[in-house]
Amino acid sequence: MSITETSPAAAAEASIPHIGHWIDGAVVASTSGRTAPVYNPATGAVAAEVALADDAEIATAIASAVRGFEVWSQYSIAKRQSVLFAFRELLNARRGELAAIITSEHGKVLSDAAGEIARGLEVVELATGFPHLIKGAYSENASTGIDVYSLKQPLGVVGVISPFNFPAMVPMWFFAIAIAAGNAVVLKPSEKDPSAALWMAKLWQEAGLPDGVFTVLQGDKQAVDGLLTSPDVQSISFVGSTPIAQYIYETASKHGKRVQALGGAKNHMLVLPDADLDLAADMAVNAGYGAAGERCMAISVVLAVEPVADELIAKVQERIAKLRIGNGAGDAQGEPDMGPLITGVHRDKVSSYVDIAEADGATIVVDGRNFSVDGLEDGFFFGPTLLDNVPTTSRAYTEEIFGPVLSVVRIESFQEGVDLINSGQFGNGTAIFTNDGGAARRFQNEIQVGMIGINVPIPVPVAYHSFGGWKQSLFGDAKAYGVHGFDFFTREKAITSRWLDPATRHYTENRGINL
Ligand code: NAD
Repeated sequence: MSITETSPAAAAEASIPHIGHWIDGAVVASTSGRTAPVYNPATGAVAAEVALADDAEIATAIASAVRGFEVWSQYSIAKRQSVLFAFRELLNARRGELAAIITSEHGKVLSDAAGEIARGLEVVELATGFPHLIKGAYSENASTGIDVYSLKQPLGVVGVISPFNFPAMVPMWFFAIAIAAGNAVVLKPSEKDPSAALWMAKLWQEAGLPDGVFTVLQGDKQAVDGLLTSPDVQSISFVGSTPIAQYIYETASKHGKRVQALGGAKNHMLVLPDADLDLAADMAVNAGYGAAGERCMAISVVLAVEPVADELIAKVQERIAKLRIGNGAGDAQGEPDMGPLITGVHRDKVSSYVDIAEADGATIVVDGRNFSVDGLEDGFFFGPTLLDNVPTTSRAYTEEIFGPVLSVVRIESFQEGVDLINSGQFGNGTAIFTNDGGAARRFQNEIQVGMIGINVPIPVPVAYHSFGGWKQSLFGDAKAYGVHGFDFFTREKAITSRWLDPATRHYTENRGINL
């Protein structure tokens, strides 16, 4: 399935593919004259250009979604469910194609791209059971002769704005449930890896979704602002960095929309002296360097309660030495452990945080700066980096780095660890490694974080629970997927009803009929 069918003049001249929008069931070439480069991060080459929508394109996309909603919201539950099942089957059968697209634009290794799809698929599977989750409730005889019941109806056109790091999973968190509940979705993917969204749009069409119910609007801030301010868009689901999440929350709320805006993170792993240090080291390496650290649930800080820091750091260092970094698509040696970062600009930003940590007095145990892969010298690679004795006043500690940089902070007690975690601006995920159930129980009770792992480093909840952090990691009160997802994408009506008993008495009595 080609995802680059359109080719406006500029892209044609440069002989690179043009990635357009998906509107009314077709790929639509942009006429805005504005585009952004899409890289292959492993080679550093520009692989395509993506459309950046202008106001006319935004209006066309939203108008199509309004029409799509009118059609889709009238489909019976059974018909909607059959489309959901078809989408699930197609996605399951063809997930390899999608993984290859993700790796080519994001850079993550293929098995990780497949893992992202598997987690998204979980939400699609949950969504196939939507009839049970959008049922209303009925109270008979709430007052004499009066019944009270509720309906859950779709919102209308809903906007989804997604980040670069999960170009398939994060959109699936929202669109599967939104569509199941009868809404029409306009997805604004990240302009850094926009092709996965187009591929999924075509899949929806194959599954039988009517045109206009799933729209892909490519773009940047202009497209986002168009969604935030349009009176035809009823809600916004956003995932991305904290400053933008806050902007989205404030702007969309001001325009009367329902908003869920998930932001950044700085996830700590607290290692108590009684923990299994081999397990903790394995998990720190997987959770710190997997996807090159570009995960909102990545572990970026290890709080080592003394006296275990030296031993733990040695174990982590041993494991780092065995990591192979290369093209996420694989090479002659098979699949590497870690791919490149998303762009050269981002790689340089990650590098600058290591400079900051060093200047602030941290010890550089493993230095990933100036790292390159043979034959891929222009790729956006950054080596796994391990920092020790990171001062908690350093910006390298307080801010999100979003790269393969693991910082160790040595502490003296469980309580010092809890206090440090609770003093941070973020509250997305955290983990404790211990064999002491009482300590773990106290941790889950006292920690001010939305998702907690106990001897589990990346505690992303399964689809039938919900995903969301606390503090600067989530603006709004609705988490992603699970029951929260169905509540977010429906609105309830409560009906109080009285019928005369029997309703037709006057009619029948006048005609001499006895009921
Ligand atoms: P980002 O905030 O730069 O971009 C996210 C989306 O917002 C993109 O679609 C982008 O086009 C748009 N955007 C960017 N700047 C904008 C602006 N000024 N105005 C309006 N829209 C704008 O985030 P990113 O770099 O794509 O993704 C990485 C970030 O996402 C990290 O901070 C990571 O922690 C976070 N993230 C959080 C979660 C979570 O569940 N909490 C999940 C994944 C990623």
